[in-house]
Amino acid sequence: MLNDKVAIVTGASRGIGRVIALALSAQGAHVALSARSAEALDKVVEEVKAAGGQALAVPGDVSHSDDAANLFSETVAAFGKVDILVNNAGITRDGLIMRMKDEDWDAVMDINLKGAFFCSREAAKLMAKQRCGRIINISSVVGEMGNPGQANYCASKAGMLGMTKSMARELAKRSVTVNAITPGFIETDMTEELSDKVRSELAAQIPLGRFGSSEDIANAVVFLSSEGAGYITGQTLGVNGGMYM
Ligand code: NAP
Repeated sequence: MLNDKVAIVTGASRGIGRVIALALSAQGAHVALSARSAEALDKVVEEVKAAGGQALAVPGDVSHSDDAANLFSETVAAFGKVDILVNNAGITRDGLIMRMKDEDWDAVMDINLKGAFFCSREAAKLMAKQRCGRIINISSVVGEMGNPGQANYCASKAGMLGMTKSMARELAKRSVTVNAITPGFIETDMTEELSDKVRSELAAQIPLGRFGSSEDIANAVVFLSSEGAGYITGQTLGVNGGMYM
């Protein structure tokens, strides 16, 4: 379905990003993978190759504009173009607002929101010229709902939703679509730290009664990347088991 397409996935060294990269590759896309840890990225590249796909690791920090520019130039040098960008890299630095440190606010904004801006700016330049492309922003259900202890994270993820709609309006005339996915609670390193009590309390709030999987998110990314999703732009697709409607 994505034969000969070229996709960049940020935060692809583990968790949801890794599974997105494997899923896009399984559909035929060549994948360029970014994260700060080169060693972890290399392992994912090997996984993609072992499954018969083509992958490139471009280690870097999305919160540095030079690294974002390098990610795109390396990808174009290796694969010739960029058709799909998945802005997935993200972190949390939780704390109650009264005690939140400046550096915890800044780190989350710099990686989650500014990183997505830096990568989207590079993608927009290439995709506008080629008159097609897909930008998919991995936001979060808490960017829509809010969550105590996560003012910085929720602000960054809500910011992504506004950025998604603005970019969708700017790039529509070049047939570039821009959409966001808002995952609910997904089983990854990010949610592994929760205690059993918190996990069961959270699961009780989810109509489908369970945490999601990285595959649930990857399926939505594959769909939004496909030709069949060409008339969808500026949208937020909730993949959250019904916890926010
Ligand atoms: P994760 O397991 O912690 O993985 C985060 C990924 O981002 C890693 O590959 C990490 O690699 C990379 N990363 C972090 N900072 C980076 C930076 N400055 N530059 C480049 N890469 C960076 O997280 P996850 O649970 O898979 O989450 C993936 C995305 O989904 C995030 O945006 C998250 O906010 C969102 N999300 C997750 C959930 C959930 O329940 N898990 C729910 C809603 C939304 P390095 O550390 O090596 O850089």
